Amino acid sequence: MNSIQAANYFVHFNTNCYTNLHEHLESANYSKIFILVDEHTHAQCLPYFMGNLQTETPIEVIEILAGEIHKNIETCTGVWNVLSELNADRKSLIINVGGGVVTDLGGFVASTFKRGVSYINVPTTLLAMVDASVGGKTGVDLGTLKNQIGVINIPEMVLIDTSFLTTLPANEMRSGLAEMLKHGLIHDEAYWKKMIDLSNATTDDLDGLIYKSVEIKNNVVTEDPKEHGLRKILNFGHTLGHAIESYLLTHETKASLLHGEAIAVGMVLACYISNKQEGFPSEKLSEIKQVILDMYGKVEFNTSDYESIIDLMKYDKKNSHGNINFVLLKDIGSPVLDKIVDNKTIIDAFQFYNS
Ligand code: NAD
Repeated sequence: MNSIQAANYFVHFNTNCYTNLHEHLESANYSKIFILVDEHTHAQCLPYFMGNLQTETPIEVIEILAGEIHKNIETCTGVWNVLSELNADRKSLIINVGGGVVTDLGGFVASTFKRGVSYINVPTTLLAMVDASVGGKTGVDLGTLKNQIGVINIPEMVLIDTSFLTTLPANEMRSGLAEMLKHGLIHDEAYWKKMIDLSNATTDDLDGLIYKSVEIKNNVVTEDPKEHGLRKILNFGHTLGHAIESYLLTHETKASLLHGEAIAVGMVLACYISNKQEGFPSEKLSEIKQVILDMYGKVEFNTSDYESIIDLMKYDKKNSHGNINFVLLKDIGSPVLDKIVDNKTIIDAFQFYNS
């Protein structure tokens, strides 16, 4: 698979990625390499990655606890302290081997330690391959509020080796599929059609679909790296999805959702709102709801849930001048930005999802 050129860096795939990594390590002459993992990727992914790594540069491994609840500034402080104790300097390299939590947090730690050291992302979940590792958004949550602290800062390179997916649990695979479905909905109806029937997909087919998703994300990010306009389309389903994810994280009596699972619900709601406000075709709305319910099952929401979730949306990073800005669709592949939606329509959307 050919490498994809992003803004000033490359995304390398499968067999190509280690050759490119070694060439880079030879030419960059780093003082030390720090590999950031979480407890699961330490056990499941690091041995394989180390087996493919050839370098004379000294290596240290830093482990963080797995899971979104640890994507916070306390974990960063722990990593900054270890870097400091192990004499990391400005010529150190951080390699993030993990899912979106490790790549988001590791990218942020690297971008801020001694005012910035280089980092490389090695995504090991589907979600991190097709979304989190590409585009340079780094950061952590503030309490349960998603991604409130962070910077946009690009990695040296991203290495996508899909063989990491062999150990990924099925629910984590589904979580990543949600971002791929999103790429179809915002950009390419033919891709959406391919994504909704994976029953006969081979490993090669999946590699091709991952490649296409990275291309879609990268094209958008390259055109608008700082999210002044177009890049906002990648937030389709995320305004309500993030609020749902945050809400369920704080309610112990309710089962929490993985990031992609919450985004999947958010996309059904956003399609309903798109149908009401932007004329998004009704038959496509029904199809999208059915596809997502078949893949993810249904989450039960009641009236008090809607109100708390709507309340949480005021923290969404796309808000401006007190308005909550939605990405909606006129049709599959035709997104529109900065749309204001009243609470009644959002409640109707939840009722449509529940019905
Ligand atoms: P994650 O990093 O928590 O990984 C999910 C789980 O899978 C973890 O328990 C992890 O240890 C485990 N795991 C990872 N790779 C594995 C493997 N190969 N085998 C077995 N287990 C493995 O979650 P995620 O879904 O990868 O990422 C979600 C995060 O990504 C969220 O915090 C979200 O905000 C962020 N995100 C960021 C961007 C961005 O542009 N920066 C985009 C989308 C999502």
